[in-house]
Amino acid sequence: MKPSSQSPAWTPVHNALGVPCAARCRRFVRSEQELIEALSRWPDALVVGQCSNLVLPKRLECPLLVAAWRGLRLVREGADALLTAAAGESWHALVRYSLGQGLGGLENLALIPGSVGAAPIQNIGAYGVELAERLTEVRVFDRQDARIRALVPSACGFGYRTSLFKVQPGRYAVLGLTLRLGAGNPLVLDYPDIKRELARAGHGEPSRRQVAEAVMRVRRRKLPDPKVWGNVGSFFKNPVVSKDAARRLAQSHPSLVAHPTAGGAKLSAAQLIDLCGWKGRRQGKVGVWRRQPLVLVNHGGGAGEDFLALAERIRQSVMERFGVYLALEPTAVSPQTP
Ligand SMILES: Cc1cc2nc3c(=O)[nH]c(=O)nc-3n(C[C@H](O)[C@H](O)[C@H](O)COP(=O)(O)OP(=O)(O)OC[C@H]3O[C@@H](n4cnc5c(N)ncnc54)[C@H](O)[C@@H]3O)c2cc1C
Repeated sequence: MKPSSQSPAWTPVHNALGVPCAARCRRFVRSEQELIEALSRWPDALVVGQCSNLVLPKRLECPLLVAAWRGLRLVREGADALLTAAAGESWHALVRYSLGQGLGGLENLALIPGSVGAAPIQNIGAYGVELAERLTEVRVFDRQDARIRALVPSACGFGYRTSLFKVQPGRYAVLGLTLRLGAGNPLVLDYPDIKRELARAGHGEPSRRQVAEAVMRVRRRKLPDPKVWGNVGSFFKNPVVSKDAARRLAQSHPSLVAHPTAGGAKLSAAQLIDLCGWKGRRQGKVGVWRRQPLVLVNHGGGAGEDFLALAERIRQSVMERFGVYLALEPTAVSPQTP
């Protein structure tokens, strides 16, 4: 395969982290059929959306296929509405569209950057709601068997910031989603930040739109704008530890936040990082965001490798102090990916 003969050599790849990256071959793909054809031609291609959850290398040898086809369609109306969305749609445009149609269920997921096609990869979530809870189907192209499949959520291996697609990178290209939206989805208002924001605005019994607006205000306040400070949102996942480990940690560090889960407890990665003294610290051209230590930011000129080096130092200090391993949330891409 000689992608360089098909497109200009070394195209810069815009990404939320703001790191320099040039791809040998980049294609915007305008339809499902075009993607399938491109994948059969370039089996080693990396499929992406808006590059808001990637740590990219300076040079990307494999072809980059950007899902860019659009489409939102209400296929069933009413209290139990079904909405289909194409992979290249913007996630937030989908949230806005659903609210415009009076459909409930996505308000807590407002303003998450990126595309619809990437949303199931890490099962995007925020403020107590995860994508998996609203899905009825994920349409994929299975690159191994070269066929289109319609997967129900129970076949997608969804968990906290994970899925079958994340565990088997490169096997599935997401073509589109079907979501169940409507009155059947309860409002989720458990998060203190959101509760406070709604109370401040005087919304005792908020509408879906008011919840979405509260979520957007909180996000704008807490998270740095990637256009100003390159970032991918949370750089680490909240670690889930066994019951025994949670008990030991509660004895040695009683102030640690621990939410019970089926097998143990979910800790706050932000708190662990903060307690290790990282909040607001800088290492060369990259650093830890001063208001949210889960977020690493580009101070200007930082490269993917600078982020990975800082993440490794943070990881080591959390491991030394608490014996807890922090997994990365974004996908770190190697030059020859996948
Ligand atoms: C400021 C900020 C805040 C964020 N907040 C949140 C948050 O609250 N919750 C949350 O869950 N995430 C959050 N994120 C992460 C990010 O928004 C999501 O992971 C989003 O789904 C990434 O979309 P994307 O199109 O940019 O994906 P990309 O970064 O382009 O790709 C991410 C991964 O998905 C794969 N992929 C993309 N499209 C496809 C496709 N069609 N088929 C197969 N694989 C594909 C890529 O190969 C890659 O592995 C945040 C990011 C930023 C920058």
